[in-house]
Amino acid sequence: MIEVKNLVKDYGNHHAVKDISFTVDEGQIVGLLGPNGAGKSTTMNIMTGYISSTSGSVKIGEYDMLEQSLQAKKLIGYLPELPPLYEEMTVEEYLHFAGRLKGIRAKKDRNAAVQEVEEAVKIEDVKGRLIRNLSKGYKQRVGLAQALLGNPPVLILDEPTVGLDPGQIIEMRELIRNLGKKHTIILSSHILSEVNAVCDYVLIIDQGKLVAEDTPEHLSEHFADKNRLILSVKGTKEAVEEALAASSYLASYTITGETDGVIDVTAETNTGEDVRDELFFEFADKKLPIVKLETETLSLEEVFLKLTGKEEEEE
Ligand code: ATP
Repeated sequence: MIEVKNLVKDYGNHHAVKDISFTVDEGQIVGLLGPNGAGKSTTMNIMTGYISSTSGSVKIGEYDMLEQSLQAKKLIGYLPELPPLYEEMTVEEYLHFAGRLKGIRAKKDRNAAVQEVEEAVKIEDVKGRLIRNLSKGYKQRVGLAQALLGNPPVLILDEPTVGLDPGQIIEMRELIRNLGKKHTIILSSHILSEVNAVCDYVLIIDQGKLVAEDTPEHLSEHFADKNRLILSVKGTKEAVEEALAASSYLASYTITGETDGVIDVTAETNTGEDVRDELFFEFADKKLPIVKLETETLSLEEVFLKLTGKEEEEE
């Protein structure tokens, strides 16, 4: 549904986007994840035809954004980072205005379209109010309603939850998940838990480059440190320590806890292989039952840090 090929954007000497390519399949909710300044908004602004690229191409459905921009733009609903809301209009007036801009000319059609999007984002109860007087969460929903007008198959949402309070964030995520049943969605975020909760595919960008892409689950699995083991062993601390020190499979270990005769350990293996079976029998021979034994899987947060070497922004 979306094809981005070798996208480059330079601002003078500054390379904001450096040769990014990816595709989004119909019906997917894809997260564009990256720290501040990574190039998310720039990429989205090019995808929506709002700014031009230095080189590369964007295809939405059948249409090339550069050569058939009118047709391509018709397929997109865009929620920019700062939605262009007219604060002195009521919600209803604004949505009618936006509907006219999107070419929904007949009043009857516009009435139906506005009512449909008001229902979709649950703003019927504020439709008569001035936008100026709405909470940030409701303003964001009005922005989303505007993006939905005309029922475009593709939604591009730039940081849809930024500035919202925790309750509003949960509602917005729920809304996006619901919209994902009928639309192909690409959203940007610098919040990992957000893409984890909402998206079924993640593109991680850093300093203008695509550094990884996969499902949240695969990303975590792929970057997991398979050499790290987390185990709990039944026995005295001394006996367990002696067995750990004598093990031919472990390079190092740390005792992390002790509860009711069970010793918790984090250990590094020295082979790069999965040695859980060998370790199990080694400890069984010493009459030290291993009651828990797993390789460590990194969270998406840790994957992100490994890839970008940056601290996550505070939520
Ligand atoms: P944020 O989450 O902070 O919005 P982002 O990932 O969306 O970050 P962009 O806004 O795309 O990042 O910016 C990418 C880089 O390009 C940044 O270094 C930014 O300073 C720079 N940049 C963006 N717009 C312009 C512009 N109009 N002129 C010059 N540099 C720009």
